[in-house]
Amino acid sequence: MQMIRYEDLAEKVRQWHPNAPIELIQRGYVVSAKYHKGQLRMNGEPYLTHPIEVANILAELKLDVVTVTAGLLHDVLEDTLMSPEKLRKQFGDEVFQLVDGVTKISQVEFTSHRQKQAENFRKMLLAMVSDIRVLFVKLADRLHNMRTLQYLSPESRERISQETLEVYAPLAHRLGMARVRGELEDLAFSFLDPVAYQNTVSLIEARRAVDHDFIEEAVGTIRKELDGHGIPAQLEYRIKRIYGVYSKMKRQKIGIDEVFDFIAIRVITDTVKNCYTILGTLHNLWKPVPGRIKDYIAIPRPNLYQSLHTSVIGRNGQPFEIQIRTQEMHRIAEEGIAAHWKYKEGKLGAVEGEEQFRWLRQLIESQNDVSDPREFISNLKVDLYPDEVYCFTPRGEVVTLPRDASVIDFAYAIHTEVGHQCKAAKVNNRIVPLKHKVKNGEIIEIVTSKDSAPSRDWLACVKTSRARSKIKHWINKQEREDASELGRKLMEKESRKFKTTWKKVKLMKSLAEVMEQFGLKKIEEIYPAAGFGTISPRQILSRLFPDMAPQNEAPPKLPAAGEVRGIRSGNDSAITVHGQGGLLVYRSKCCNPIRGDEIVGYITRGKGISVHAANCPNVVNLLGSDRMTDVEWVDGDEKELFSVGLSISIRDRQGILADIASTISNLNTNIRDSRTRTDPDSGKGTIEITVDISDVKHLQRVIQNLKSIRGIEDIERRMEVES
Ligand code: MN
Repeated sequence: MQMIRYEDLAEKVRQWHPNAPIELIQRGYVVSAKYHKGQLRMNGEPYLTHPIEVANILAELKLDVVTVTAGLLHDVLEDTLMSPEKLRKQFGDEVFQLVDGVTKISQVEFTSHRQKQAENFRKMLLAMVSDIRVLFVKLADRLHNMRTLQYLSPESRERISQETLEVYAPLAHRLGMARVRGELEDLAFSFLDPVAYQNTVSLIEARRAVDHDFIEEAVGTIRKELDGHGIPAQLEYRIKRIYGVYSKMKRQKIGIDEVFDFIAIRVITDTVKNCYTILGTLHNLWKPVPGRIKDYIAIPRPNLYQSLHTSVIGRNGQPFEIQIRTQEMHRIAEEGIAAHWKYKEGKLGAVEGEEQFRWLRQLIESQNDVSDPREFISNLKVDLYPDEVYCFTPRGEVVTLPRDASVIDFAYAIHTEVGHQCKAAKVNNRIVPLKHKVKNGEIIEIVTSKDSAPSRDWLACVKTSRARSKIKHWINKQEREDASELGRKLMEKESRKFKTTWKKVKLMKSLAEVMEQFGLKKIEEIYPAAGFGTISPRQILSRLFPDMAPQNEAPPKLPAAGEVRGIRSGNDSAITVHGQGGLLVYRSKCCNPIRGDEIVGYITRGKGISVHAANCPNVVNLLGSDRMTDVEWVDGDEKELFSVGLSISIRDRQGILADIASTISNLNTNIRDSRTRTDPDSGKGTIEITVDISDVKHLQRVIQNLKSIRGIEDIERRMEVES
């Protein structure tokens, strides 16, 4: 490879910056050569070729002397004996700042480790706002490295290509540098998936061959038409780039023939007025495809891109795209902000087209509060990573979450315990519901409390698998603990009825035998089994003391192991519907009506008839609608059981759980599940139990009996029931 000479560089820069201190570039060239002397690249060339190529890319982007010089020196701090002090002294603050910025960005590695990635990315943005030219140098550096990537190991190739695709190509896009972005994407694609890359190249070649004559003819027609109207225009056409074609086909699941903008004819003219005149003229020639006329002149894209786009139906009904723009717009389209980069006395100078540069100015202005990066960060990141959101801890650390994640996900991302004890959340200092979806740039503070605990409905509003599995794990563990506690108390209580203590029973040799009959191996396994109701304490004790079964009460009918009945789902046979035969009937989850409750039916769209309690808050709004229908409980079927949730408010005292359990058990009622929460300070608590109930009278009986237990303050029927 022929090394670029200093004169070539100087000439390119002089063309756009005629009065610039060009000798800075010469000194940069000499110092870079001196410090990189003897170093070789992986391909065996002198290392110096790399900084010179980088400087050349920058010169071709029409960037200023300082940027091109920084390109020459961009690796001297990292890879040579050059010291920061010396560099600053020899080349001044500006060049030093750029080289230092590039060095820092290069030390940032975008690992897959979430926390580190977010942190590093923020650093990169910070470096960027200190001087946006740092990014130009970095992009040029990356572009040249991608061009010579084949000399690296397969692992390095893949890592660097991935990073290019995920970080640098989108960044170039955001800065409006279409050419740089396109080349970065195609190179990265060719290394990451060589087979798909080659396939796409073949597809493009084939279609290009077919389209060639067609497009030549269209260009000729436009030429003739515009000449006829005396409108000055330069005509060219572009074939969509390889990665662009590939991702469009993949995203929209289409074949190459359906890629609308595969070929775009560009009409580049002198004035905005002529852009619109040309649009009108061409629409007279060919019919435009409705909905595909886009006016990016009136409304530029965020990256400053301007053009008129239209798709028209050509000969034989083949559609193709036309882009119409001025010379100036064309330059910005190709080179982006870099095309307009003018730096005066170390500050961002006034640039032409004030409005046009509002985005850039906002970006630069936000460096005034570099200490607080929260303001501008989302602005850039939204486009860079559409699947993620970035938010902050109160200390300013960046947390990356999938889109639509809630503050609960955030809490678990911080720490498992923060998640478990998450009580409330503040977003930008205002309390929000826990299901609040995190948005870019929000500062989130989690309020924790030792008494708070995960609840099952959190599962509906988390997005991360981390939060989901932590919550599930906690709930399972908690339910088992509650059941075990309940089970142990049941065993103790039942033992007393057999005139002994559980402590003594545990020591009996015959216990092992009885346990075996129930498929239990360890004593610890009895507790959850008794608590969940899969075995009954009485069954165990009766077998240990066959002669001592308490006489004064009939043994409660508890289901044997494996016989716990579930909620009826699907068609509910306990309910009939008047005049609506054949429809699926189900009891609504929101109010969970049971036999004997006053009920109403609501004909849903496509899901059958949902049956609500007449006093269900959700029904009040529906009353009077013509979708309401009469429903009735079917008499008789005594076996049908409904799960009903009860919230029992208690003053904590020894043995209250056992009392509740035996009271319910004595009413031949099965406890499906229970959960206890007590506050050690106030001594108050809530026990939530789910019981199998046959009808409203049965439920009333259970509640009545429970109310007579000392320590129970209130009992409420829970609307929602977890099944
Ligand atoms: Mn480099």
